Amino acid sequence: MKIHEYQAKLILAQHGLPIPQGEVAFTPAEARKIAKRLGTPVVIKAQIHAGGRGKGGGVRVAETIDQVESIANEIIGMKLVTAQTGQDGRIVSRVLVEKCLEISRELYLGMLIDRSSAKPVIMASASGGVEIEKVAEETPDLLLKEYINPIVGLAPFQIRKLVFGLGLDSNLVAQASAVMTAMYKTLVKNDASLVEINPMVLTNRGQLLGLDAKVTLDDNAIYRHLEWTELRDLKEEEPLEVEASKYSLSYIRLTGQIGCMVNGAGLAMSTMDVIKLAGGEPANFLDVGGGASAEQVRRAFGILMSDPNVRVVLVNIFGGILRCDVLAKGVIAAVGELDVRVPMVIRMEGTNVEEGRTLLQESGLNFHTSGTMTEAAWKAVDLSRRTGDSR
Ligand code: ADP
Ligand code: MG
Repeated sequence: MKIHEYQAKLILAQHGLPIPQGEVAFTPAEARKIAKRLGTPVVIKAQIHAGGRGKGGGVRVAETIDQVESIANEIIGMKLVTAQTGQDGRIVSRVLVEKCLEISRELYLGMLIDRSSAKPVIMASASGGVEIEKVAEETPDLLLKEYINPIVGLAPFQIRKLVFGLGLDSNLVAQASAVMTAMYKTLVKNDASLVEINPMVLTNRGQLLGLDAKVTLDDNAIYRHLEWTELRDLKEEEPLEVEASKYSLSYIRLTGQIGCMVNGAGLAMSTMDVIKLAGGEPANFLDVGGGASAEQVRRAFGILMSDPNVRVVLVNIFGGILRCDVLAKGVIAAVGELDVRVPMVIRMEGTNVEEGRTLLQESGLNFHTSGTMTEAAWKAVDLSRRTGDSR
């Protein structure tokens, strides 16, 4: 789950990260009030769940209180397109009004769980700010890395190594330690999967502060963080994914043409793999769940059909707790209701498969069946090519 910069900063600040004074505003009048309290100059920063805002015109300095109101007026409601939003951009609904700092250096700090070593890793680069993607791509060896033993935590020697590696003066070790410790605590105590401070700045007065922050929370930990409900901004999320979450469906929208309806995360992933092997692209990941009801199957179908990129639907079900006859009923109900014009390939196995097949055959629906998953994937890919323009 992604959250906004100002929310990420507040969480990090609770763990000891120094941040510039600032507050969020939803209207230009609110922005003006905040700037009056802070004193100008201030920076007005569009809050969207994507980076690269500076280059896209979403981070601007206001020298006077009147400018604050007019800049906030321009940013709130604007469609901000950045390297991370795609062409569609995002509509900005809130801004962070923050004290403008005099910066002498911009550094990069990032922390995440490294899957291959199964440890948290902290990464640092002396070239922080808006060019970090370039550094990561062109000179990845300039990215310093320290792997953290989760039993010991972030060790003081690792912090010193990073401080000196970044070319910072030794009198900054204590401040850097506060910054990095705040990141580690946020990662561990708040169940974050990513914590990024880019840039961490050194001001002209010799202070280290987090100027921009990104925190991604691990969805698997939602059940133990009731407070996350307030942090969620549904407008920033993919509407079909929000819809799917209402019915406890794990759905992630992708960019391909083959809509997948599968039960079980493992089967869903391997279905996506075989589609790729057959030369196609999945339009989504969808796990209707091991024990889905006919109603959930019907909803899942509705979500697949709302994606205009979907040219073929591939149903791949292994009937365990979800019985094949229940699935068949859900599919029949959905197709009857939704005016499905795309071809469908159904492969199912498992509990009550015969009943399921009979129900489908007697329903009069138009669909293709396949005995194996690989065959089903090839068929779906083939159909997606043939029906390329018919929708
Ligand atoms: P993004 O990464 O989305 O472009 P940032 O918050 O990192 O957004 O801002 C981009 C740049 O704007 C920063 O690298 C920094 O140079 C400048 N900036 C951001 N906030 C401030 C601030 N409070 N004071 C001075 N400059 C700032
Ligand atoms: Mg940034």
